[in-house]
Amino acid sequence: MTSVAAVGTGAAAVGRLPTEQGDFVYDVQAMRIVFGPGRLNLLGDEVARLGWAKVLVLCTPGRRALGERLAEMIGPGAAGVFSGARTHVPVGVAVAGTAEARRVGADGCVAVGGGSAIGLGKAIALETGLPTICVPTTYSGSEMTPVWGLTADGEKTTGRDPVVLPRTVIYDPELTVDLPRATSAASGINALAHSVEALYAPDLTPVVALMAEESARSLASALPAVVDDPTNIDARSLALRGSWLAGACLGATTMALHHKLCHVLGGMFELPHAETHTVVLPHVAAFNLRAAPGAADALKRALCTDDPARALSELNRSLDNAPSLESLGLEYGDLGPAADAVLARPYRNPRPVVREAVLAILDAAWRGVLPSARAQ
Ligand code: NAD
Repeated sequence: MTSVAAVGTGAAAVGRLPTEQGDFVYDVQAMRIVFGPGRLNLLGDEVARLGWAKVLVLCTPGRRALGERLAEMIGPGAAGVFSGARTHVPVGVAVAGTAEARRVGADGCVAVGGGSAIGLGKAIALETGLPTICVPTTYSGSEMTPVWGLTADGEKTTGRDPVVLPRTVIYDPELTVDLPRATSAASGINALAHSVEALYAPDLTPVVALMAEESARSLASALPAVVDDPTNIDARSLALRGSWLAGACLGATTMALHHKLCHVLGGMFELPHAETHTVVLPHVAAFNLRAAPGAADALKRALCTDDPARALSELNRSLDNAPSLESLGLEYGDLGPAADAVLARPYRNPRPVVREAVLAILDAAWRGVLPSARAQ
């Protein structure tokens, strides 16, 4: 793979691009994005644009007041608020939400909140075909993906279906100012993980590579400012813009070892979703970027560093994110079963996923030892 010189300067090399070689298929997902502070005030217009007359608003119990505010904004077209959304969409919640949508005769749903509320909208869409508008208030990025998930008996089943993609996404940074510091920091790194894994995905395309690099740049520069002052609307806007792009990357590419590890740790040991991503990401980046020079160079540019894995680790530390899997409550004895579960059904990865390597990553993540790309 060759380096590319900066155009017009003939001076500094800008590094390898992640997609310098290879064929690709770029499949555009048709979604309408409405972005900007205060844009929630267009919700009524967006509902009218879709011709909906009976709208069910979906949220978690903690976001009930916000759900009711949205129902008020929709006016006579609002058919109710279902505030039973929960993380990882338990099947019982999906059944209850679907029954409520049928009971009120909904012709569309508005999901407001994080990945839990959006996940419930997807589950209802999967069952009924009902279209949705998403109003995300975290950085999970779920609204940009055709991936649905349902949990039963501690096991999460996921799949892809374009029917779960929202018709419209309204990103209003003002809705994120009350997202607590710690949740913002963890959710933001969760988004950054999508960008990192997109950059070495087998189905990366030039467009998605641009989005991934830009989202990593936006998130890395916005998150410290968000944590410093959660009401800083410029920082909130940049973070939300980064999470939109990161979500688009997640929706357009195949994720690898990092996401597999997080799914296993979340599913088997009920570790918190976004926090698990924050702990694991630098360790998998240190392991994988050695085999993905184009991705490594994109992250070097985006994070202004020579060592992206270490920069991710330092970003975590500056944001006060959890230092280790141990601090999230994982027992050391759980590492072996987790490695076995990863190997039982591995995702495609730039480096071979062998037990010794997975255990080494888990061990370092459990201890919270700073990774160094050069050390592996
Ligand atoms: P979440 O939706 O559970 O939200 C975390 C908590 O923050 C909730 O209690 C919520 O009520 C609260 N909250 C949300 N927005 C807030 C705000 N602005 N102010 C104050 N509190 C707020 O968590 P999440 O991390 O957004 O999403 C995690 C879920 O999303 C998981 O189930 C994960 O598997 C799923 N997910 C799915 C995809 C996908 O593509 N399918 C992608 C990412 C995440």
